[in-house]
Amino acid sequence: MAQHNDTFRDFGLDIRLVRALDHQGLEMPTEIQQQAMPVVLAGYDLLASSKTGSGKTLAYLLPALQRMMKSRALSKRDPRALILAPTRELARQVYAQLRALAGSHFNIALLLGGENFNDQLKALRRQPDVIVATPGRLANHLDARSLMLNGLELLILDEADRMLDLGFAPQLERIHQAADHRRRQTLMFSATLDHAEANTMAGKLLNAPKRVAIGEAHAEHQDIEQRFMLGDHLDHKQALLDHLLANEPYQQAIIFTATRSDTERLAERLQQQGLTTAALHGDMSQAERNRIMDAFARGQYKVLITTDVASRGLDLLQVSLVINFDMPKQPEEYVHRIGRTGRAGASGTAVSLVGPRDWEAFKRVEAFLQRTVTLSVIDGLQGKFKGLRPVRKPTGKGKPGGKKAVNVKGKGPAKSAARPSPKRPEGFTGGGDGSADGMAPLKRKKPRPEQE
Ligand code: AMP
Repeated sequence: MAQHNDTFRDFGLDIRLVRALDHQGLEMPTEIQQQAMPVVLAGYDLLASSKTGSGKTLAYLLPALQRMMKSRALSKRDPRALILAPTRELARQVYAQLRALAGSHFNIALLLGGENFNDQLKALRRQPDVIVATPGRLANHLDARSLMLNGLELLILDEADRMLDLGFAPQLERIHQAADHRRRQTLMFSATLDHAEANTMAGKLLNAPKRVAIGEAHAEHQDIEQRFMLGDHLDHKQALLDHLLANEPYQQAIIFTATRSDTERLAERLQQQGLTTAALHGDMSQAERNRIMDAFARGQYKVLITTDVASRGLDLLQVSLVINFDMPKQPEEYVHRIGRTGRAGASGTAVSLVGPRDWEAFKRVEAFLQRTVTLSVIDGLQGKFKGLRPVRKPTGKGKPGGKKAVNVKGKGPAKSAARPSPKRPEGFTGGGDGSADGMAPLKRKKPRPEQE
C-alpha cells in the first residue's frame, strides 16, 4: 500500500503544479492519484486499472510533469513524453488538461488521425516536449521520419485495453521499438487488469511494473442509478425515450444507439420536439466531430445522440442522464457508457432500453455486474416480450430467456450471440432491434455497427 497523502501539496510537487491545481480548485487527490502518483514519482513503471471518471488523467500527468520539471531532457531534439489515447476525443481532452497544468512551461503538440499532416509536421519542427496522440497517426509520423523517439523519457498509454481492442497493437509495438531504451519510464492504464491482450502488451512494454488496481471496470458506479426497461420494438423504444426525456431531471443527456443512421434519425426526431440535439458518429469528418463535442461540452446542445465514439474517457460534467437506446454489445462498453454520467462524484442516471435484439447483451451486462437486475416499468408503457424466442418452429431448445437456438433469417441456429462476429448476417447486431427474431419489424436504413 502506498503512502497516504492528504492533499496534493503532500506529494512534494513543483510549486507551479501546485498553483495550477489550486487555480482549478483541486486539493484532495482521488484514490487512483493517491496510489499511482508515489509509484510514478519514484520512477517505477506502472500498470494501473481505474474506473472511468476516477481522476486517472491527473494521476499520470502530474508525476510526468514533475519528472520533466525536475530533470534535464535526455535529448534536446526528441519529445520527452508521449501520451497515447485510443480516440481523438479522449486525446483532445488529455491535451486540454495538460495545457491547463503545464501552462507555458512546455511545448505540447497534439497529433490526431484525420487532421492535416503538414500542420503536424510544422508542430513537430518546433520540437515539442510532450506529444499527445492517437497511435495510428503517431506511427505514421515515425514512418515518415518526422520524429524520433530516442530521447523519450515517458511513454504513457491511456485506455490501453481500448487501443488494443481497436487493433492498434502493431502501432504500439512500433512506437515501443522506436523508444526502446532503459531510461524510459512506461505507464499503462486500462479499465481492467484482466484484459489478456493488454497483459501481453504490458509484458513487452513495461519493466518490472508496479500494479495499482482501483475499482476494476465491473465495479459498480456508486453514484449512478442504473435502470433497465423492456422496449418491445422501435416505436415502443421511442415512446420510452420521449417519456424519459420529458420526465427525468437532467442538465444534459447522452443517448447511445447501435447504428450511425439512428443517431441522425433520433436527433432529428427530438429536435422536432423542441430539444437542442446533435448526432455524433464516425462517418463525420474530424472537424465536424470536434465542433459538436466542443459545442456539447459548452452546453449548446441538451442531448447528444451517438454511437460508441463518445463512450470513453470524455469528461462531460453536465451529463446527468445516459440512455442506452440499444444495449452495447460488450458489457465493458456498458460500464464506459454509463460512466459518462456521475463524473467525479456527481450523481447520474443511466437507463437502458432492452429490446428483443438486446436481450443477450443485457444478460451479459447482468452477469458482468454480478447481480440480478430488476426491470423497471413506466406506467402505460410496459414492455411485453420476455427474453429471446426462436423465429419459427420452436425446437424446444430456445426457451424464452434461454441463450441457444436463435434463428437468424431462418438459416439455422446462430452460433452464439455472446460473441458477435463481424461476419454475422446483416441486421444481427445483438445490440439493435431487428426483425430477425420474429418480433416487430423495424424500418431502419442499413444498420451499420460503429467501428471506431
Ligand atoms: P478522469 O478520470 O481523469 O477523466 O477525471 C475525471 C474528472 O475528475 C475530471 O473532470 C477531473 O478534472 C476531475 N478530477 C480529477 N482529479 C480530481 C481531484 N483530485 N479532485 C476533484 N476532481 C478531480
